[in-house]
Amino acid sequence: MYDVIIIGGGIVGCALARELSRYDLRLALIEKEVEVGFETSKTNSGIIHAGHHSSPDTLKGKFEWAGNQMWDDLAGDLKFGFKRIGELLLAQLPEDLQYLEQLKKQGETRGVTGLEIWSQKRVRKEEPNLSHSVLQALYAPTAAVVNPYEACFGLIESAQQNGAELFCGNQVLAIDQDNDGFTIQTSQKNFRTHIILNVAGLFADQVAAMVAADNFKILPRKGEEYMLDRRLQGIVSRIIFPIPTATSKGVLIIPTVDGPIMVGPTAEDVSSREDQSTSFAGASKIFAAVRKYCPAISERDTITEFAGLRAVSDANDFIIEQSSVKNFYNIAGIQSPGLTAAPAIATYVAEMLRSDGFTLVGKKVWKSDIDGPPHFAQMSPKERKVTIERDPAFGRIVCRCESITEAEVLYAIKHGARTLDGVKFRVRAGMGRCQGGFCTTRVMDLLSQKLGIPLHKITKRGQGSEICAPRQDILSVEDKR
Ligand SMILES: Cc1cc2nc3c(=O)[nH]c(=O)nc-3n(C[C@H](O)[C@H](O)[C@H](O)COP(=O)(O)OP(=O)(O)OC[C@H]3O[C@@H](n4cnc5c(N)ncnc54)[C@H](O)[C@@H]3O)c2cc1C
Repeated sequence: MYDVIIIGGGIVGCALARELSRYDLRLALIEKEVEVGFETSKTNSGIIHAGHHSSPDTLKGKFEWAGNQMWDDLAGDLKFGFKRIGELLLAQLPEDLQYLEQLKKQGETRGVTGLEIWSQKRVRKEEPNLSHSVLQALYAPTAAVVNPYEACFGLIESAQQNGAELFCGNQVLAIDQDNDGFTIQTSQKNFRTHIILNVAGLFADQVAAMVAADNFKILPRKGEEYMLDRRLQGIVSRIIFPIPTATSKGVLIIPTVDGPIMVGPTAEDVSSREDQSTSFAGASKIFAAVRKYCPAISERDTITEFAGLRAVSDANDFIIEQSSVKNFYNIAGIQSPGLTAAPAIATYVAEMLRSDGFTLVGKKVWKSDIDGPPHFAQMSPKERKVTIERDPAFGRIVCRCESITEAEVLYAIKHGARTLDGVKFRVRAGMGRCQGGFCTTRVMDLLSQKLGIPLHKITKRGQGSEICAPRQDILSVEDKR
């Protein structure tokens, strides 16, 4: 019998697991995918929003600034990629100037620090590659970029280190309630718990419907993103925002933590909760928009693209509450700025449990940090020499584009990677210009050896994304295994 079970291992579920691991609880997180963070939390813009974007009368507004301020400590403890690079929101039309003032005031009322309106001259000096049509810009130094998948892996590793249990590959299929608590039936086994935190993202309304606590609907909104070649690295040094639209913050230019520039996202209401395809139309929209404020960016520089689905609730705000079913909590509709807000949502939910009468007793020993992966590419020649002498696996480069070594791939597998994406998003093998053209087979080989599974069962991101077919002549041997 668990005290608390979290359903959904996105950034919010992982942040909750770590937060609740501070207390003496039997705690588990159940995730349908083969690894955590493999849904919306992996496919976003990776921005920790500055704190002034969302309206003050919404939960989005409340948690954007609160969450923003928690990321420096988290990144320090959990060793994921994070940089406070600041943002510029551009005004290109005279009628936009008033919006900059309005947004600045909104931020200042909330306590966001360092907001400044920059003149055209200042913008040109600081960001010379932006279009000369920019009239003014609102500068926000509190905006940051993060590797969101690394944050998920770090949060869950920290939670597990402090006693939380993780069950991936367990899709929740049904939930029954009785006098003692809930029985959760998954695709693999049954779990018993007193409290359920439903953090199932795009499927949160379907999970809530299993106990008739679905007083909301999730409406997926797709966003396509395009990653550009390192050739364009440095073309801007801050995150660039246009004036937002009614449904999105517009198409952004994002200098990612590891250097490459990303552009996106689109915002398109769709009916499917699973369609993560990109499109010619989406690309055209993005590059046409971006060229208006940074003319040197071209679609010819795209090295890879992806799409993510925002879980927008029909209330168009976060839902964070105990539902009509006692001890069943909905944490749903966590659209943007959900990544930014995640750590603040986690502490808020812990407080909510306490004020609802649950006893949360802090553990005597709770370890806040983890070791984090090694980064061979960032070492000096002297450090590299010492490191290779200590472990020769650092002397074997697996991913040539990003200089990722065999030792780093082995680290990823030891720390939970079960798929090619699990390795890629932990240590960057396959993230460079060739997008895995050289290293995929080597990484597959290492996964196969270390996990003891045949090559044809290695997947990109879980069942259905196998890379190769089984060899007919060895099939019978493996089948027996
Ligand atoms: C294109 C795009 C760009 C964005 N950019 C930003 C940004 O720059 N900054 C920002 O702050 N926010 C951004 N967001 C929003 C942010 O990504 C989300 O708010 C956040 O990732 C939501 O996290 P989550 O944990 O609620 O959901 P998810 O990451 O979707 O996690 C939910 C988890 O529940 C699991 N699950 C679902 N059903 C079941 C079931 N039946 N059984 C077991 N497990 C289940 C899923 O597999 C999934 O892993 C963006 C979103 C998109 C789509």
